[in-house]
Amino acid sequence: MMVRYPAVCAAYPVIRSGSGRAPLRTQVKAMIESTASGGCQCGQVRYTITPAHSIVYACHCRECQKQSSGAFGLSMPMRLSAIRFDGDMAVYERPTDSGAVTACFFCPSCGSRIYHRDSTAGEFISLKAGTLDDTSGLSLVAHLWVCRKQPWIRIDPELPAFDTQPDDLGHWRSRLVSGLSTSNS
Ligand SMILES: [Zn+2]
Ligand SMILES: [Zn+2]
Repeated sequence: MMVRYPAVCAAYPVIRSGSGRAPLRTQVKAMIESTASGGCQCGQVRYTITPAHSIVYACHCRECQKQSSGAFGLSMPMRLSAIRFDGDMAVYERPTDSGAVTACFFCPSCGSRIYHRDSTAGEFISLKAGTLDDTSGLSLVAHLWVCRKQPWIRIDPELPAFDTQPDDLGHWRSRLVSGLSTSNS
């Protein structure tokens, strides 16, 4: 069952969904190093990313507050083929507002959310970036669903901030990843 949350939105200067041509930061430091590793809280699930990159976005929607049990979700978009998993994962599926299904993969032992894959996103996934072993070099490139953000979170005015989310979230994510591959070649 989907839970609907009241649309109480804080007044905040944001990019409205539909005008989502927020410039991606081309100067962003794209690569931390060629390989990165991570895993769940208990260590049963481990993964390696090749090539590694540092791009993440924050999503302040209520679903991400629930899944992260925090103030926002931190997503690192990437191709599924770039990551190798070891260990068992369980999956929880939920419908999205757009009619797609998001498959949410987590460690069945400790419950850490590892990654999400939308039914419409093809090869692209969202890794939950807090599971990386080294989170010190992450580059935040955008905020999504700032209408649901906690009031005490201050948004950097330099960063694109969407009232809800880009109209074509899947395409937007793939542009982030494609930008990386071109800047890295
Ligand atoms: Zn675990
Ligand atoms: Zn979200």
